[in-house]
Amino acid sequence: MKRILVIGAGFAGLWSALSAARKLDELHRTDEAEVAIVNPAPYHSVRVRNYEQPLDPTLVQLDTVLGPAGVRLIQAKATDIDSTARRVSIAHDGSTKTLDYDRLILAAGSVLVRPPIPGLERFSFDVDTYAGACKLQAHLLTLPALPDTPGRYTAVVIGAGLTGIELAAELPARLREIVADCDRGKVRVVLADRSTTIAQSMGGAQQVIENALTSLAVEMRPGVSLASLDAQSVTLAHGDETERIEAATVVWCGGMHANALAAQLPVTLDPLGRVPVDAFLRAEGVPGVFAAGDCARILIDGTRPSVMSCQHGRPMGRYAGNNAVSDLFGDEMLPLSIDWYTTICDLGPWGAVYTEGWDRRLVSEGETAKATKRTINGERIYPPKTGLREDIFRAAAPVVQTPPSTQRLDKR
Ligand SMILES: Cc1cc2nc3c(=O)[nH]c(=O)nc-3n(C[C@H](O)[C@H](O)[C@H](O)COP(=O)(O)OP(=O)(O)OC[C@H]3O[C@@H](n4cnc5c(N)ncnc54)[C@H](O)[C@@H]3O)c2cc1C
Repeated sequence: MKRILVIGAGFAGLWSALSAARKLDELHRTDEAEVAIVNPAPYHSVRVRNYEQPLDPTLVQLDTVLGPAGVRLIQAKATDIDSTARRVSIAHDGSTKTLDYDRLILAAGSVLVRPPIPGLERFSFDVDTYAGACKLQAHLLTLPALPDTPGRYTAVVIGAGLTGIELAAELPARLREIVADCDRGKVRVVLADRSTTIAQSMGGAQQVIENALTSLAVEMRPGVSLASLDAQSVTLAHGDETERIEAATVVWCGGMHANALAAQLPVTLDPLGRVPVDAFLRAEGVPGVFAAGDCARILIDGTRPSVMSCQHGRPMGRYAGNNAVSDLFGDEMLPLSIDWYTTICDLGPWGAVYTEGWDRRLVSEGETAKATKRTINGERIYPPKTGLREDIFRAAAPVVQTPPSTQRLDKR
């Protein structure tokens, strides 16, 4: 049996594996090759929803999707890639072993960047992973039992990229739900970022985001950087000036870097640590290796580098899986090219904002955009829930979806 091995069962890895299984089925080669996927957890985490509560719906048990597709799940962590010997070392529960591959798809995703800021490692929370998001929520639930200090119900979110904005917009309501009625007025949420305005890169959505955060009573601190933090406070710096905010909760949303496994391939990584891949998702200069999702960089429309996003990770996976099988059996590979780009940012109880294009032109906002965001977070990015092989294979086909639909501002 030949083997197509996928590392990681996030958006890119799951769709790589399903797409590879679909292509094997299409070529009637299922008795000649297996698709195996290595992932530390038995679930697929819908990571983009980690700012939400409750988190249970964000987990998809992998066997419910991989089983019908005939993909083998190996619950383990990949530790080493030997791309010359075409072998991957894996570890699980203290034991290690190696797996040979004929085609490898690296889809191990990304991790939160953690610069060496005093106190960051020890005292900050994050929503980068399911575990991180659970830990944050568990901490918030302990707040009412803590001594009544000034910062008990203050949460400071550092980093006003999409993740930080989405979390900051949720936190006032989440905190108010946790605290006693008489303490609701003590809830305070601050969103800090080093750029000169909050949501600076959000084009036509920038003002919408500021308005939404203002109406949600989120305090904005642009132009500052995180200097240090401890269990009770955070210190923000602006040039020589510093501001100390008493806060029992500090959440770090400082950006992502590709998984360290990418550095094991003999390639020159991009500044985000990503493996350069061609239009067919082949790692440049590494025979037999494909890469997809946050640990890969493709020119998504032939010109612009892909963005670390599930928007790009899912189609990258579909094409990587398809092409790995095509390459193995001498079938024609398909180039990936996506000529549209959208950003849909959740703004908590206020609604959401939807932009299109790389310059982020405003398309819809408020409850209209929120309805679109709900569809994306609850349906569009999930594998079919029927558990039927034909539904799963249909969804895994190497085709580019149309942009999420929304009611446009200019059509109202
Ligand atoms: C809070 C939040 C909100 C976001 N919002 C959006 C959004 O609105 N829209 C959008 O497009 N993107 C959003 N993103 C970004 C998006 O989640 C990522 O870009 C996306 O998850 C990348 O998919 P991936 O498959 O490459 O990586 P991941 O989803 O991170 O999956 C990687 C998988 O690989 C596994 N893995 C890691 N190391 C190993 C190893 N050594 N061996 C085996 N398996 C391994 C992991 O356990 C995981 O299952 C958001 C991210 C966060 C954190």
